[in-house]
Amino acid sequence: MKIVIIGSGLAGLSAGYRLCKSHKVTVFEKDSDMGGMSASYSLENSGKKYFIEKYYHHIFRSDSELLALIKEMGLEKQMLWLEGKNAYFVDGKNYPMNTPVEILRFSPLSTLDLIKLGILVLRIRLIKDTAPYDRIKAKDWILGTAGKSVYENFFAPLMKSKFGDNAENISAAWLIGRVKIRSDRGKEGEKLGYMQGGFNSLVGALAWEITANGGEIKTNTEVTEVIIKDNAVKGVVVNGDFIACDAVISTAEPAVLDSITGGKLGNLHDILKSIRYQGTACALLGLNRSLMKDGNYWLNIKANVPFGAVIEHTNFLPFEDYGENLVYVTSYFQDRKSPLWTQKEEDVVGSYLDGLEKMFPGFSRKDVRWTKLYRRIDTAPVYEQGYLEKVLPFDAGPSGLYLAGMFSSSNYPERSMNGSVKAGFEAAELLSKEKEVRSR
Ligand SMILES: Cc1cc2nc3c(=O)[nH]c(=O)nc-3n(C[C@H](O)[C@H](O)[C@H](O)COP(=O)(O)OP(=O)(O)OC[C@H]3O[C@@H](n4cnc5c(N)ncnc54)[C@H](O)[C@@H]3O)c2cc1C
Repeated sequence: MKIVIIGSGLAGLSAGYRLCKSHKVTVFEKDSDMGGMSASYSLENSGKKYFIEKYYHHIFRSDSELLALIKEMGLEKQMLWLEGKNAYFVDGKNYPMNTPVEILRFSPLSTLDLIKLGILVLRIRLIKDTAPYDRIKAKDWILGTAGKSVYENFFAPLMKSKFGDNAENISAAWLIGRVKIRSDRGKEGEKLGYMQGGFNSLVGALAWEITANGGEIKTNTEVTEVIIKDNAVKGVVVNGDFIACDAVISTAEPAVLDSITGGKLGNLHDILKSIRYQGTACALLGLNRSLMKDGNYWLNIKANVPFGAVIEHTNFLPFEDYGENLVYVTSYFQDRKSPLWTQKEEDVVGSYLDGLEKMFPGFSRKDVRWTKLYRRIDTAPVYEQGYLEKVLPFDAGPSGLYLAGMFSSSNYPERSMNGSVKAGFEAAELLSKEKEVRSR
């Protein structure tokens, strides 16, 4: 069977890997690099080459499908489990947030508020099923359980930096899912996972398997149409040419899928149109010195700067792996009207550097060796109240059309590489089963 996969992110590559031994797989990727949200830069410092993700990435011990795939690819020796120190920058001051004792020293909250926050976290950890919280707004739920001060001084700035103007509409299910992951630190404290050499090794290994088994991966190639006739997939259009195939797995953003299927996916059409995605403008800076001398990896920010987090990769991974200090400065944005999308790249980076100078008195632009900016509009679904009803099925309806990606059930209520690997596998399995039934 001839299978076309739209997108070379982890969902597309995982599906391609599962199918390539028994089918002819072609992956089309509109970008110049493979990997989608987990794509990497290939950089060089003093003659030493290294890969680093365009968007910061780490994983959790609970990411079982991803870890099993890394093992299956023979890459488990590259897995490192390291401490990544967190802090919260509020109105000019850094508050470490790694241990319960440190959190109890978060002075923007009163002692009573800290107790309410502690009870809220304990309560969240006892919640097994987040689905019933999907219809409740996170804001209302926090106000009702922990009160106004905990919401305004702790959660609201974090949610604002993640979802901008949409923050007040985010579902409690998302918040609960997020807090559950981050508060499950085990006995030895939270250890985050990273592949030495970068997650590019996994992307590369999957791509190698696909091509070694006769498949193809074509970058810089956008699928502009999916041709469906008599309720069955007939092929796709790329570069104006019709390419016949028996099945398509789409990993593209739902609104893109709606457009390339001409809005003809029956019941799904309205849902595809209604799923909102947000963008991310993430700068990567190569520095001559460490930015966060206190060793922080991840700094959430409540301050008047145009970004929501600073992530110092080389306070997480050893500096020696790169020979220079690597820092991400990042912000989500909500639509194409945002200055983070409309401004020239150098202006976005310039505004980020201005913000860093304001926040870190010892930092100067002279410390910056180089900068890069990765900006995409399609980086995450916005998990609004009621989102659960919009989670897309793996089977899109017409015979031979399958869906896997950040919009799948395995990526609810928080998208991750693990969720996309799982989605890719589920779509591949469904496709294989249906093909078996049809060929009987
Ligand atoms: C800023 C940021 C930080 C993240 N951090 C983490 C983290 O720390 N840990 C973690 O586990 N996850 C993290 N994630 C999430 C993780 O990267 C994603 O969930 C996962 O990589 C998505 O994979 P995917 O294949 O589902 O989608 P994508 O990676 O979005 O792949 C879809 C691909 O389809 C391509 N495409 C779209 N339309 C077309 C078309 N018409 N024709 C051809 N190609 C097309 C796109 O270019 C893209 O490459 C992060 C994501 C972002 C944005």
